[in-house]
Amino acid sequence: MTADSLKALVRTIPDFPKPGIQFRDITSLLADADGFAALIALMADAARTLDVDYVAGIEARGFILGAAIATALGAGFVPVRKAGKLPGAVVGIDYALEYGTDRLEVHRGQFPGGARILLVDDLIATGGTALAAARLLRGEGAQLAMALFAIDLPDLGGMAALVAEGLPSRAVMT
Ligand code: 5GP
Repeated sequence: MTADSLKALVRTIPDFPKPGIQFRDITSLLADADGFAALIALMADAARTLDVDYVAGIEARGFILGAAIATALGAGFVPVRKAGKLPGAVVGIDYALEYGTDRLEVHRGQFPGGARILLVDDLIATGGTALAAARLLRGEGAQLAMALFAIDLPDLGGMAALVAEGLPSRAVMT
């Protein structure tokens, strides 16, 4: 399946979560057995030569894609969660949203000998979320091999911001 036929499986929901936002909804793609499998195969293939130890997925849609990519690559999975969800000792990072701030957390001390990580989310817009996750994981001693997304919204410049921080980035669909 090509990236164009995958794109046809993504729904656009107007005015979600706020008026004026065109939300790209991947649940329609996930519900399509061939489409979901093709998306995971394309994303896993993009990262196969990187030889990562872990896939880190960003809550919540990054969990769905990241976990499937991790099993396809023979890598472990690390959840990057919203504040207050992880049961163990955590390290966190606050980051700016359009209005206000948000916080991401991971379990502390998971990578004592360092680790090569593939960062995964469903979509990159401004890049604020992925940059925060990358800084959090780097602060824990991880080496970020690549950031990988199902969808890039290039007008918002997120992927360029990641590359400017020394993080190679790719997306299956734009
Ligand atoms: P950014 O931090 O790059 O501005 O926004 C990306 C984050 O917001 C990702 O975690 C992504 O899941 C979510 N997001 C923002 N806009 C959309 C959208 O249109 N569709 C989906 N599926 N997620 C979005």
